[in-house]
Amino acid sequence: MSPMRTVKVDGEARYDICIGPNLLGDSALLSHALRGRHALIVSDGNVAPLYADRVEATLLAARPTLSIACFVIPPGEQEKTLARFCQALDALADLGATRDAAVIALGGGVVGDLAGFAAACWMRGIDVVQLPTTLLAMVDSSVGGKTAVDLPAGKNLVGAFHPPRAVIADTTTLRTLPERELRAGLAEVVKYGAIFDDEFLGWLERHADALLAGDDAALSEAIARSCQYKAEVVSRDPYEHGERALLNFGHTFGHAIEAEQGYAGAGNQALNHGEAVAVGMVLAARLSAVLGLAPASHTHRLQALLQRLGLPTVIPAGLEPEALLARMRLDKKAEAHGLRFVLWERAGLAKIVSGVPDDRVLDVLRGR
Ligand code: ADP
Ligand code: ZN
Repeated sequence: MSPMRTVKVDGEARYDICIGPNLLGDSALLSHALRGRHALIVSDGNVAPLYADRVEATLLAARPTLSIACFVIPPGEQEKTLARFCQALDALADLGATRDAAVIALGGGVVGDLAGFAAACWMRGIDVVQLPTTLLAMVDSSVGGKTAVDLPAGKNLVGAFHPPRAVIADTTTLRTLPERELRAGLAEVVKYGAIFDDEFLGWLERHADALLAGDDAALSEAIARSCQYKAEVVSRDPYEHGERALLNFGHTFGHAIEAEQGYAGAGNQALNHGEAVAVGMVLAARLSAVLGLAPASHTHRLQALLQRLGLPTVIPAGLEPEALLARMRLDKKAEAHGLRFVLWERAGLAKIVSGVPDDRVLDVLRGR
């Protein structure tokens, strides 16, 4: 059996997600995703030194006449700005990119979102090929076509739906990923089990040690299964009018934690996105139990799995329940009468619940 797996995204946009070791060295695979004569590799200051030359050499081996340029941003979410977006467009202009050019996003979610948005806008839309190098980007952000940059007023406020032409996830790149980033990605993997598949949670429980150890077979299986769940949902609901919102399980609480800790100046102590989502999923499970929707034992199971994966499961010290609630009211999912949450009826079955009373949410935030 070939070590490469392929997951197909169907529906309005059709593309393949290829997952496997050493794919960045596969000339046929990479060049197949390119149509024109120009390619702009967008990457960041950690990833580019590790992998950009390889990608360029792999492409040139198949297409010696391709014009390739590289646009590298400093690492970090604070770089996902309109200013960097404009620089990416300038880099496309310098390259002389035509309508059949491709943007190649080589990096984590920050690079993928920025590069995808630049591709969505250049000449009203050119191809983007996602080469995710973080677990989080492989299982989540590189798939589904959401692209965006942040504004001072909030994250992802300017963006577009722009599905990739292909997603190529080289699992060998995960060997250089800092362990904390790997664990953050595992939080989003657990999310798929929590919302769609109790059996997958069981698989994760059995393979937790292998995943943490970076075992290639276990990681490939986890990535492929996660992409399969996401592909099915985005195929049916590409613009998040309905069930795609289930993917926000843990995210209403998680975003509030991320926003509030930024305000509180938590610095290096701050939870990253995956960690905040881990805490958020436990809170969503507890809220489900508080509302009598789901058994409390399922919360404990989720919490135990996240803890085994080295993820936080409680709200960081110093964040006030009232302040977190205020953040959630500001979130785009807030409604006039109570808040809207993705909750679960049991492990493996999520549902959207509107009109959740503030005092129940506060009970959960206060740990009652
Ligand atoms: P995410 O994918 O979690 O949204 P980022 O794009 O910010 O987040 O990537 C997380 C961090 O990991 C960044 O500092 C990035 O430079 C770094 N990084 C990404 N991929 C790799 C890799 N394969 N090896 C080493 N560092 C990486
Ligand atoms: Zn997320």
